This record gives sequence, C-alpha cells and structure tokens, in this order.
Amino acid sequence: MVVIVTWLFAKSFRGLAIYPFIFLRTKDLKENLKIINHERIHLRQQIEMLWVFFFLWYGIEFLIRWIQFKNPLTAYFNISFEKEAYANEIYPEYLKTRNFWSFTKYL
Ligand SMILES: [Zn+2]
Repeated sequence: MVVIVTWLFAKSFRGLAIYPFIFLRTKDLKENLKIINHERIHLRQQIEMLWVFFFLWYGIEFLIRWIQFKNPLTAYFNISFEKEAYANEIYPEYLKTRNFWSFTKYL
C-alpha cells in the first residue's frame, strides 16, 4: 500500500516503510522501481521480525553504528537492514529468492 506524504520527509529522504505501508515524498517516486523494491525489502524484514523487533533492532543498531562511525549518515548506511536493501534494490526478483533473516549477512 503506497501513500504519498510530502510533508513527512527531510529533503534527503524519499521513502519510508512501515508495514503495511510505503510512504513516499512525491507521487512520481511510485514509478521508481528501485525505491519501491528497497522499501518492499524493509516490509519483508519487518514481517519476519514481527514488526516491533525490527524497529527496536533498527534503533539500537543505528546508535551502535553512530558510536562506531561518529556520523549519523554513515551510521544509517551501515545498519544491516539498510545494507541489505541498498545492495539488492536493483534486483527486482530479489524478494522471490531471499532467505529468512538475510539481513544478518550484512551485520
Ligand atoms: Zn532503507
């Protein structure tokens, strides 16, 4: 389910996934298969972590990476969920072959 919310985002962010929704900053992003696939990977991660544990883990890993890299943007790109999503967003078939908890390969 895709929802367009222009007011929700800082300029650098284009999309956000909170199961069962994908929030996008602009309508044209709906046609951007890479972004949609990226957010769909997050939806899968959220389902397999029973939703709440995804956000807990995401927050804790973000803080750990922030301490590790001393930079919030670098921390964000190094969260295992983001690494998996960025590495595989270009493969439209990725979710069909992805294994359970695949994000742990990116820890
Ligand atoms: Zn992401």
